[in-house]
Amino acid sequence: MERTEKVLEKLKKRGMKITPQRVMILKYLEGNKNHPTPEEIYRAVSKKLSAVSYATVYNVLELLKELGEVKELVVGRRVVRYDPITEPHHHAVCKVCGKVFDVDVDLSSALKGLEKDLPGGFKPESVEVFIRGVCKSCQDKGK
Ligand code: ZN
Ligand code: MN
Repeated sequence: MERTEKVLEKLKKRGMKITPQRVMILKYLEGNKNHPTPEEIYRAVSKKLSAVSYATVYNVLELLKELGEVKELVVGRRVVRYDPITEPHHHAVCKVCGKVFDVDVDLSSALKGLEKDLPGGFKPESVEVFIRGVCKSCQDKGK
């Protein structure tokens, strides 16, 4: 709940309302490692708040994104997922089930050797990688 409280404080300081929808979405995302899609967030929140609309969920996610409190991951052409961990990190994406897993490996040293291959004068600041493949459970199902 710590993170939720902090974001709510931030909203208050900016003169924004603390609506039940905003609270529920923040609670759902706190510590959530599943990188949920807006549809998944909507389904979970509407179970508890029947009056919530998809548009509201979408707007709250946009607001949180603007505030830097969630990160939008563009996983596929039409697939967007939300990550409450906003620090740069990497992801492994399963092309069968679409699940997204965190990959905790430091690739910052890889940037150093890369500079000569980047477009002229380009100054790299961070690297975030999507590793695409098939997760263990989908491999097992395919056997
Ligand atoms: Zn899978
Ligand atoms: Mn992540």
